[in-house]
Amino acid sequence: MIRPNSTIKAISAGEPFIGPERIMRERGLDSMLRLGANESAFGPSPRAIAAMSAELPHLAWYGDPDSHALRGALAERWATLLDDILITSGIDELLGLVVRCYLEPGETAVTAAGTYPTFAYHVLGYGGRVESVAYCEDGTIDLDALASAAQRCNAAICYLANPDNPSGSFVDAEAIARFRAALPARTLLLLDEAYAEFADPASVPERRAMLGIVRARTFSKLYGMAGARIGYAVAPQALLAPLLKVRLQYGVNRNAQIGALAALGDEPFASDVLERTARGRAAYGALGQELGLPTLPSATNFVCFDCSSRERADVVLEALLRRGVWTRKPGRAPLDRCVRVTVGDEAAQAHFAAELRAVCSRVTA
Ligand SMILES: *Cc1c(COP(=O)(O)O)cnc(C)c1O
Repeated sequence: MIRPNSTIKAISAGEPFIGPERIMRERGLDSMLRLGANESAFGPSPRAIAAMSAELPHLAWYGDPDSHALRGALAERWATLLDDILITSGIDELLGLVVRCYLEPGETAVTAAGTYPTFAYHVLGYGGRVESVAYCEDGTIDLDALASAAQRCNAAICYLANPDNPSGSFVDAEAIARFRAALPARTLLLLDEAYAEFADPASVPERRAMLGIVRARTFSKLYGMAGARIGYAVAPQALLAPLLKVRLQYGVNRNAQIGALAALGDEPFASDVLERTARGRAAYGALGQELGLPTLPSATNFVCFDCSSRERADVVLEALLRRGVWTRKPGRAPLDRCVRVTVGDEAAQAHFAAELRAVCSRVTA
């Protein structure tokens, strides 16, 4: 009998993400407003597109397994050593590498119940156990409960997204330092900063490698390169060295490395995206107020509209989808009363506002 190993066999065949392509196929739609995956509405920087296009003829070559040029640019930006930076095929790959290297099968990792799911998915895949703690009623992460759980389980890894997805909530550098100090010394803090660029720069932990922490960054959100699959870790070299033993040497797309380097060099573009996103968040806030769906504070490129009950949120999500607007909603209480909507560009914002108004007039009528 050919069969998968017992770890894999024990996992139920659920999928963390159902892509919009499948939803369109199943519903027979040929277009949809994509506001469900926090993809950038502003696309990659024109400089990234130009650099990647120019290099396409060299797609026969593997990418530099050292990602030397990109790591060099990041090391300068972070005022850190080259070896404190590791390029990966997105944060999602990095999460798997950290779990594989730092969690023994049977050991426990802790996280918030209903946060970004890829971490827990890797923990199960490598034979670990997930201990999760509920969000506070206001949708923020209960850091005290998370630290207690890590102490109780002697956790190998603690995963925290800051800013968080799906809530959008954010804690400042001091809170992160206190939280690190409250974790057991043996617990690795895996700090997912996919949205850090959208938060107040004065409150984000400063750009440096931090003891006992692997910081995860991506080009998928601010830089609009989700389809290219590229991100990076910043951590003391000693924490990253084990990952080098098992990572795929050619796992990072060559063209993605080139595009990421060009994107980093286009600061005016990134500032423009940040400004337009901040305006969009404010516009969503006003829209929520108008419609009686108050929004949660967000330090990201998405906003949660509070529909006050899970049932009502389900109805709003489905009604939007029927009108060709794809959003997502958190799966676990207390956030499952919300619908999470990516901040689109100005046209997408107007389109979304019109559809949400139409949906609300029907739901309440
Ligand atoms: C979108 C997202 C990611 C995905 O990052 P990739 O670099 O595209 O793999 C990781 N973490 C969080 C919290 C996200 O929302």
